[in-house]
Amino acid sequence: MIAHIPYTVNLASPKEGPFEFACRVLREDLERCLLVGAHAAVCHPGSFVEGSVEDGIARIVRAIEPVLPLLERPDAPWLLLETMSGQGSEIGGELGHLREILERLGWPARVGVCLDTCHLFAAGYDWRDPAEVERLVEDLDRLIGWDRVRALHLNDSKFPCGSRRDRHEKMGQGHIGREGFANVLRHPRLGRLPMLLETPVASDLEYGDEIRWVRQLHRELAAGG
Ligand SMILES: [Zn+2]
Repeated sequence: MIAHIPYTVNLASPKEGPFEFACRVLREDLERCLLVGAHAAVCHPGSFVEGSVEDGIARIVRAIEPVLPLLERPDAPWLLLETMSGQGSEIGGELGHLREILERLGWPARVGVCLDTCHLFAAGYDWRDPAEVERLVEDLDRLIGWDRVRALHLNDSKFPCGSRRDRHEKMGQGHIGREGFANVLRHPRLGRLPMLLETPVASDLEYGDEIRWVRQLHRELAAGG
């Protein structure tokens, strides 16, 4: 069970009200995760809005520090910071940002990373090229440590690689396409991560089609396709 902290909270907000609100929601949602026995809670790092990336990172660290004792409990969920597209003043469009947050927090147990195929594609990792997929895995290993990579959001992208635009598309209908997702599913490390869809469906029922698409591709790959 992997939860998502609301997209509207901004842990990097320079404004006192929204920052306090983000800190409160983070704590409350992690407490809810503890109550229901969730394995992880995914959170967007946030946007610095004004000033510098460094200022934003400092605020994210300040927001997460108070919940670290909660994450040390044996039944605690992981807090997973998501890789972002780098749109606007978003933090997390570079893996180096996430590394710096982890570093400043002192590499706590149970703080890790959730990958997003659309966001990483927008940030410049081209899933359609196996060498680029390896570059990503190497970057994750070097900057974050693979043991902290705990989940993967599966989304196709409405915009081309490197666009820094965060617009999800249905599976196989965007620029990542069948070839790109085949490289994800057949990868010995990426293919084993828990995967979650965040594709733009009109109703939840349509996720059935999305899941069937992924399973069909998986079957074709297993059959040598
Ligand atoms: Zn996502």
